[in-house]
Amino acid sequence: MRILVTGGAGYIGSTAVRMLIEKGFDVTVLDDLSTGHRDAISSSATFIEGSILNPDDVTTALKECDAVIHFAGKSLVGESVLKPDLYWSVNVEGTRILLDGMRKAGITRMVFSSSAATYGEPLTTPILETDPTLPTNPYGATKARIDEMLAVESDHYGLSAISLRYFNVAGALSTSQGWLAERHSPETHLIPNVLRSTQENPVSVFGTDWPTSDGTCIRDYVHVVDLIEAHIKALGALNSPTHTIINLGSGRGYSVFEVIDAASAALAREVHRRKSPRRDGDPAVLVADISRAKTLLSWAPTRDIAQMVLDSAHALELI
Ligand code: UDP
Repeated sequence: MRILVTGGAGYIGSTAVRMLIEKGFDVTVLDDLSTGHRDAISSSATFIEGSILNPDDVTTALKECDAVIHFAGKSLVGESVLKPDLYWSVNVEGTRILLDGMRKAGITRMVFSSSAATYGEPLTTPILETDPTLPTNPYGATKARIDEMLAVESDHYGLSAISLRYFNVAGALSTSQGWLAERHSPETHLIPNVLRSTQENPVSVFGTDWPTSDGTCIRDYVHVVDLIEAHIKALGALNSPTHTIINLGSGRGYSVFEVIDAASAALAREVHRRKSPRRDGDPAVLVADISRAKTLLSWAPTRDIAQMVLDSAHALELI
């Protein structure tokens, strides 16, 4: 069975490619290398350097594929606020072109990389898939729009699709060629910034006056290997023309200070931090209800925050 992995040169996509190949799948990668890295792509995959915005590239990449895991897209909240048009174009228009290509090629199965950013400021916690989507930034809005497009594609054209709504992804996969690291530039995510923090350049803690137990934001972190195991289970569950939304997190929250403590333990040294103002658009608490993933995918995460920071630290060559 051949899977097209769009965005297979990125942090999460390249991890998926390795794990799919290990499980015996054939893999084609479509990536324009705008944010991904050529050296992250497994040499066992067929690589098409191209864009989901180019229908010819999509047609070429879909050849002989049976299903698609769609990671390609822009994924930075802050950038999306500055360049909303870029996010609507790449994420929404790119997915439209991909769906058109799949329909023409007769491919009816897709697992989509959606996001907890679709929910915005949650009304209740933990968050259920049936909760309203009220995104607070263009990134979340594009992911919510794509989820709607997939529902329409299922209703009208028989697509079998699962949108996996990620909470905070961390950790890394160790391969025979080394660790597949998160390599964003600039890096905005908490765990890499905590791990790289130094006395001269301490990590900024965005707000210490939130209505939480220690005053810092709470997020639900999930290890990238657990996350991809859920994708592989989702692929196996694509057997009817329906669209299903499934949260992927660990189902428990950690505050920024708790993440810093876990990193301090992993690195066996103090993590230098600096109190900073709140970051625009950050909700206080984002934690997933993962009952649906457990029931529908028979999946449960097994790697805890200590493992996530340890693996991220290895991948970033900090230990
Ligand atoms: N955060 C922080 N300092 C940083 C980066 C992030 O305090 O340098 C906080 C951020 O405000 C949020 C949490 O850490 O509460 C996770 O942020 P991240 O950007 O990793 O993921 P997000 O939740 O935005 O998807």
